[in-house]
Amino acid sequence: MTIPLVDLVAQYNSLKKEIDKAIEKVIQSGQFIGGSEVEQFESDMATYCDMKYAIGVASGTDALRLALRACGVTSGNEVITTPFTFIATAEAIIQCGAIIVFNDIEPETYNLDPDKIEVTSKTKAIIPVHLYGQPVDMSPILEYAQRYDIKVIEDCAQAIGAKYKGKRVGGLGDAGCLSFFPSKTLGAYGDGGMVVTNNPDIAEEVRMLRNHGYKEKYFYETHGFNSRLDSIQAAILRVKFRHLDKWIKMRHEKASLYTKLLKKIDGIKTPYTNHSNYSTFNYYTIRVDKRLGRGKLADFLKSYGINVAVYYPLSLHLQKVYEPLGYKIGDFPESEYAQEEVLSLPIYPELENQQIEWIVNQIREFSINA
Ligand SMILES: *Cc1c(COP(=O)(O)O)cnc(C)c1O
Repeated sequence: MTIPLVDLVAQYNSLKKEIDKAIEKVIQSGQFIGGSEVEQFESDMATYCDMKYAIGVASGTDALRLALRACGVTSGNEVITTPFTFIATAEAIIQCGAIIVFNDIEPETYNLDPDKIEVTSKTKAIIPVHLYGQPVDMSPILEYAQRYDIKVIEDCAQAIGAKYKGKRVGGLGDAGCLSFFPSKTLGAYGDGGMVVTNNPDIAEEVRMLRNHGYKEKYFYETHGFNSRLDSIQAAILRVKFRHLDKWIKMRHEKASLYTKLLKKIDGIKTPYTNHSNYSTFNYYTIRVDKRLGRGKLADFLKSYGINVAVYYPLSLHLQKVYEPLGYKIGDFPESEYAQEEVLSLPIYPELENQQIEWIVNQIREFSINA
């Protein structure tokens, strides 16, 4: 038996008829860029996120880049974010010509630690990343933002549908950025992303930026990009969107079962839960004690056909590409501990409870013999 980390084919097979029909409809319509599929999906997502505006773009990375630009982030500005994230978060800052400033994370949530945020006179924006689907502690961050006039752009690439104190993520700051990369909770069959906001100026700017910088065709107002969500992807996403809440609920149930079974195993720490928030478990990430050894456990599970992954093995401040920023080992201890200990286990709606029990049994056996 092999258990993948995510099973996109199982999901397709469960929706094959609807999806094939949606794709064919787009092809028959001849409308491949923009049009009603994109507009309707934008409207679905605005409603879902409780936001006034949703603008489809080419990827989650572009959502971040365009949102930063629309918030006025430009060269010389500093943007604070976490070093424990996918590189796209930091890339988007560089792509605006701005300076990345990393601050350390909380050991429990793996998210930006509000107490460690150091605002300077050059800080223009903060990008909290709701990692693995776990909401960031936003209240203190929003308070800094108000006090120091800083923009907050949420990276919700892993957290569509998650809630912070009852409110959907993406709508807490100035703009929220979604990714429809295939392995995300709501994944396309290619790349896609979206910016959600309540601010009409940000919405209008992102709309221009994604489409060569014009409002009226052939009259250009700003330096833009070609960064559109295509109609076939929008049509696929609209079909999948109808199942999103059910899938998130199923992820929750799978995560609860994992947590219940893993709790008793020595050396394994299950994901943090906070009952005022709602995490969506884009990844189910445990922490493996040094004594057990994350690498050894990962190899052991792989030998049984259980696919696991490390998100992320090296904090961004220690990456070769960011050497010029001048960070060194020891700058962000929590992020550096996490990179040695985290391990993400298979999670997807189609994963069976028996499979979870079997995975946990292997982990238990490993722990007993370690
Ligand atoms: C996936 C991801 C992105 C980027 O999304 P793409 O659609 O792949 O460009 C950004 N931030 C985080 C945290 C992600 O996981």
